[in-house]
Amino acid sequence: MKALVKSRSERGLWLEDVPDPAIGINDVKIRVLSTGICGTDLHIYDWDSWAQKTIPIGLTIGHEFVGEITEAGSNVVDFHPGDTVSGEGHVVCGRCRNCLAGRRHLCAHTLGTGVQRNGCFAEFIVLPMTNVWRHSPGIPREIAAIFDPLGNAVHTALAFSVLGEDVLVTGAGPIGIMAAAVARHAGARHVVISDPNPFRRALAEKVGVTLAVDPRSTSLQSLWPQLHMSEGFDVGLEMSGNPQAFRDMLANMSHGAKVAMLGIPSEPIAIDWNQVIFNQLTLRGIYGREMYETWYKMSVMLESGLDISAIITHRLPWQEFEQGFDAMRSGNSGKVILDWTA
Ligand code: NAD
Ligand code: ZN
Repeated sequence: MKALVKSRSERGLWLEDVPDPAIGINDVKIRVLSTGICGTDLHIYDWDSWAQKTIPIGLTIGHEFVGEITEAGSNVVDFHPGDTVSGEGHVVCGRCRNCLAGRRHLCAHTLGTGVQRNGCFAEFIVLPMTNVWRHSPGIPREIAAIFDPLGNAVHTALAFSVLGEDVLVTGAGPIGIMAAAVARHAGARHVVISDPNPFRRALAEKVGVTLAVDPRSTSLQSLWPQLHMSEGFDVGLEMSGNPQAFRDMLANMSHGAKVAMLGIPSEPIAIDWNQVIFNQLTLRGIYGREMYETWYKMSVMLESGLDISAIITHRLPWQEFEQGFDAMRSGNSGKVILDWTA
């Protein structure tokens, strides 16, 4: 089959012919239909120091996809050929304390699809049946392809109650914008998003944020009066990994506010801990998605009117993957979808 492989220890990604993945008795084999490109894939392509430490040479990358089951192992009873499915990208051990307690998203031995095991930028992928989500009828194929990052957004946005609250999202990347849309859908009063990139602020406006601001020219505190806010934001969603964005957020939270942090900083961040202590803030790290409560919430919110379709800005056949990665790198993009049936 065709696959996009990290076959050399240098910048780039190579289209190769590789053997079809072998299927075990507890696995399903899936024909890939559409995939999303993630920032992680860009790090792997660009071969930064994280990628060099993490990615084994010869790996097929990619973890955001929708596909159709073509084969189910002999132990698999509840998935069938023809089912439209996505994969939960974190393959957990099943044996650690958290896994045994049913808290699989907290597994201490998670392996990432397309990071530590072969991924979905290929004609076929094989996954354990425990990592497969069957889509409800009516979920558009390209939305199904991005359930993985939508899941990051949903897991973060619903980490704390947002009903009636004023929510600040720092970082209007695809995940920040989707999280803003979820917070809106979940009943926030105001959703303010900050990003220096004008393309992304314009994209955020399409999903219905209250305000999309440039943090370089607008101080967050200057917005309070027009939003009838007097004490600061109640819930913060840190979606940039940027140190200044996080510090601005901490300085603009109300007493007792909650902050969920998904953005991955590239270096340690120094903050004024007095703000955390005296303002009694709760900070919570978020990784991945909850298996499978987040997936359930994604499905039913889409069924009840959550609209994130504007986040898809590029649709390309898989042969044009280089253009897709270029679009991601430019920053003038939302989600980039590759069609594997073309
Ligand atoms: P992205 O890189 O596309 O978006 C980050 C955005 O932050 C960019 O638009 C950038 O312009 C903006 N930004 C930079 N400086 C800023 C500042 N000072 N204030 C406000 N915004 C600023 O990333 P994404 O794909 O949307 O993902 C969001 C973050 O979540 C990334 O850091 C990513 O690595 C991380 N992530 C974490 C998980 C997890 O499980 N924890 C999963 C996926 C992605
Ligand atoms: Zn585990």
